[in-house]
Amino acid sequence: MPVDVTQTTIGNVLTRTTGYLRTVTSHSLQPYRGCTFGRALCGVGCYVRHNGHILRGRSWGDFLEVRTNAAESYLAHYDREARWARQSSSIYTQEEARKIRPLRFSIFCSSSTDPFLPQEFQFGITRAILEAMVERPPDELVLQTHSHRVTAYLDLYPALAKRCDLRFHVSIESDLDRLPGLPPPASSVEKRFAACATLKEAGLRTIVTVSPLLPMDDAEQFFARVAEAADGVVLDHFIQGDGSADGNRTFRTRLPEAMARVNEFATALAYRDQMEAIARRHLPGRVGLGIDGFAGRLT
Ligand code: SF4
Repeated sequence: MPVDVTQTTIGNVLTRTTGYLRTVTSHSLQPYRGCTFGRALCGVGCYVRHNGHILRGRSWGDFLEVRTNAAESYLAHYDREARWARQSSSIYTQEEARKIRPLRFSIFCSSSTDPFLPQEFQFGITRAILEAMVERPPDELVLQTHSHRVTAYLDLYPALAKRCDLRFHVSIESDLDRLPGLPPPASSVEKRFAACATLKEAGLRTIVTVSPLLPMDDAEQFFARVAEAADGVVLDHFIQGDGSADGNRTFRTRLPEAMARVNEFATALAYRDQMEAIARRHLPGRVGLGIDGFAGRLT
């Protein structure tokens, strides 16, 4: 079935973060509603597939709403949202505020879609947003993707990196391209590693997000590769990482069974600890776990 692609407008494209992202960035920004990678490997365990507000009766991966005015909306709401973010200490607990100081206008792009979907290169929504950000930069921008196509806008990134704290998160969840019975990834492991290397060589801060952590063929070699291609790594197991108690959300999907067919221990949190120990050997001082890692707090 073809993906249902529609064009729409949005009131305020800057969403004040709640829940999981609360101490990561002040705002999230979705150039699209829906994600056409929903039919790929990452879509199987994707936590957004459980969000009825976004789905509205549709299946995850089957639809894409293109937010044609996203860049204009960003500029229109910039002053109000930046002021709110820089002054919003009262909404955080003392513990949260201690973690995230200084309070900044920081943006996570994206948490419920991918900024570099194939359709981006038809509509240019992410590109228009990035151009608007060169004009009026946030204090911090995290570009989170599962796609090697992140390198397509290399012409824009240096200007943006000069004006804000820019960080790339490229998800590489395993060294395996296939898990039994599941679809292939949207972008191969090789292509994503190559994209990381390109970004890093361009002097752009690049983090590999191993999220959700999947079974590995050769974890030693994988993390040695990450150490070469990126500035740091974030490990996130679906238990504690999918926004539900004990990974219940993910246990309702086909992902855990496929993981267990490769490594029966991979669905337990102890697997993350095992992988963390290997990651720390290869990337000392450059490893983050879960939410602290996504926030850039690497140790
Ligand atoms: S790219 Fe992200 S939002 Fe899209 S399906 Fe994959 S995990 Fe979900």
